[in-house]
Amino acid sequence: MAKTEAKDLRREQLVMKGFLAAVAMLGCAASGADAQVVRVADLNTAQIRALDRARTVVILPGGMLEEHGPYLPAYTDGILSDRLTQEIAQAVAARKPGWQVLVFPQLPVGASGSNELGGQFIFPGTYVVRPSTLRAIYMDLASELGDQGFRWIMVVHVHGAPLHIRALDQAGDFFHAAYGGRMVNLWGLLPVLSGWGNAMVAAMTDAEKKEDGVSLHGGSDEHSLMLHLRPDLVAAGYKQAPAVAGATMAESFSMAKAPGWPGYLGSPRIATAALGQKIWTAFSAAAIDHTLKILDGADPSQFQRYADLLEKNPLYQGWINATAARDEQLEGKEREWLRRPK
Ligand SMILES: [Zn+2]
Repeated sequence: MAKTEAKDLRREQLVMKGFLAAVAMLGCAASGADAQVVRVADLNTAQIRALDRARTVVILPGGMLEEHGPYLPAYTDGILSDRLTQEIAQAVAARKPGWQVLVFPQLPVGASGSNELGGQFIFPGTYVVRPSTLRAIYMDLASELGDQGFRWIMVVHVHGAPLHIRALDQAGDFFHAAYGGRMVNLWGLLPVLSGWGNAMVAAMTDAEKKEDGVSLHGGSDEHSLMLHLRPDLVAAGYKQAPAVAGATMAESFSMAKAPGWPGYLGSPRIATAALGQKIWTAFSAAAIDHTLKILDGADPSQFQRYADLLEKNPLYQGWINATAARDEQLEGKEREWLRRPK
């Protein structure tokens, strides 16, 4: 090799080295935010020990199998929870430098499917645990995390049944009392839900609102959200779906009692991906905003709880009583089996 060739090669190598270093730095910068978001399932004991407890927020994403009628998948609420978890994690990483987000695997259990609205406890697509079981799962996890020094926990579980929300709220209150930290059921906070509701009010015409009625479950909102997030999972028949909607809450509750009720309340046919995007953007922003406020030190008790509001409504009170009675009845049945003479 001639001397000049060697020189050229050397220069080329140096250029290449510089280029690779620049790429590596860029890579670090690009993954800087991502590196703050870690999945607990991927970590070993040394990595978990090394997490700064004062600046680590644990996200416990829930999900559930719950019927949403003939056009939406049973895991609709789980899909929404998963997406919300990702958006909250990225927002914390971007806006809280020095913090880590520790994401847990999604727990696909929830309580009290909306098919219980009209007392229909058995429905294809709904596979729930009792509210007391759900509470125990989250209280147990609260103890595990609290005993390991974690102090910031966000529960992301998009489902609106009163005893489901209450169970998660109670687990958070237990964590606060036992460990002094914060464990917040985000969906249980009224101002977070208002992001969803306000976007609907602003985006829908009066005629659409009338047709959607008092949509308590699987209405144009959830069909729109799924058309926005997972259109591949929305059955095409939604476009011809009849509206099943009461003009009042009482009417909607009684419709859900009827034999042959399709499992939704509202008007799927007026759903659009554009409406879904509006609802999602506002809802996600409200959830992120409250997460950041709480991590910045806001006392979550200043935010009104959805479960408190629901409990005051006699229609929901009937649902709560029926679900609580069934919870006890099932527990009795299970205990009796365990105590059986062997
Ligand atoms: Zn749902």
